Amino acid sequence: MNGMMGHNMADSSGEAARLIFTPEVEAETAPVWERLRARMPAVEWPIHAPLIAAINRLKRSKNAVILGHNYMTPEIFHGVADFVGDSLALAREAARTDAKIIVQAGVRFMAETSKVLSPDKTVLIPDLQAGCSLASSITAADVRLIRSRYPGLPVVTYVNTTADVKAETDICCTSGNAVQVVEHIARQWGVDRVVLLPDEFLARNVARQTSIQIIAWAGRCEVHERFTGRQIDELRVMYPHAQVLAHPECPPDVLAASDFAGSTAAMTDYVTRLKPRQVVLITECAMADNVASESPETEFLRPCNLCPHMKRITLTNIYDALRTDRYPVEVDANVAVRARRAVQQMIDLPPPTAPARYDLVKARYHVNVELI
Ligand code: SF4
Repeated sequence: MNGMMGHNMADSSGEAARLIFTPEVEAETAPVWERLRARMPAVEWPIHAPLIAAINRLKRSKNAVILGHNYMTPEIFHGVADFVGDSLALAREAARTDAKIIVQAGVRFMAETSKVLSPDKTVLIPDLQAGCSLASSITAADVRLIRSRYPGLPVVTYVNTTADVKAETDICCTSGNAVQVVEHIARQWGVDRVVLLPDEFLARNVARQTSIQIIAWAGRCEVHERFTGRQIDELRVMYPHAQVLAHPECPPDVLAASDFAGSTAAMTDYVTRLKPRQVVLITECAMADNVASESPETEFLRPCNLCPHMKRITLTNIYDALRTDRYPVEVDANVAVRARRAVQQMIDLPPPTAPARYDLVKARYHVNVELI
């Protein structure tokens, strides 16, 4: 296996290196460059443009679409993705598309979700190692044990989990709809306690937004757990006029110190609609780069953290994925049926009229959660 992968990698570098920056490629990719030029050194463009042109041609000839998460680098996000958004938007798109092939420009659990929703389509993940600290924090066996410990309580799972884990749960949620899902399932089951897995901080933040009691698991996103409330206080001193927007996978004291909290889609909406003069996006670094091209009047300040898993996806491995149909993601049929039920339950909920935001007054009050 290693030998084979080594051969493929050598082959792929060779193929990508053969693509050159011709006047035709320059003309074909000019609209993309227009969007990126403010955020990318001109010297990088002749490297990206031939790959972008080749990927877009391959997509057309193979009836493929690329689903690009908000944390993809700008050349992927603006250059080759057919649909961009957060996990929820991409899950909806995967269920809807007529394309034969889906290339998931994101991490593995997202590709599994697409496969679960589109079992007849080929779903490709450009790098098999694109994992997630949250998804690997919990197994299907853990969920079965939790169920036996909390009989009669519904189990809600964040979409950042494997298909095996989703298959053991009642309904999925994303950071954008977690409060809505928790309240919906509690009503449906006639209970006032809900198990919300596996992100501890998301669970703690959701607990502050609802009267439903939350039972949580100690999973963490390695990108968002590193932000601290103290960092936000320091930022306030340095940039007193900056708006601070935080993702709900951050620790509760980060949300409590912010001006806005919501999913990546909600953050994008906030910046493009309200056009703040200075903004700090407390999330993965690519978010600022991608929103910046739509918001030239806003200055994006650091800090941000990189997700090493998301960053495994590159134009080169997307090109190789499309060219050689690799790496197809498979999900056991029985697991897929059960996982689909949990994801579909979430998709079938009425879509929010506006991107969900967390109430920051409520976010400042401590609420106990039971940590498993
Ligand atoms: S940003 Fe966090 S939740 Fe998203 S893939 Fe990376 S580790 Fe997982």
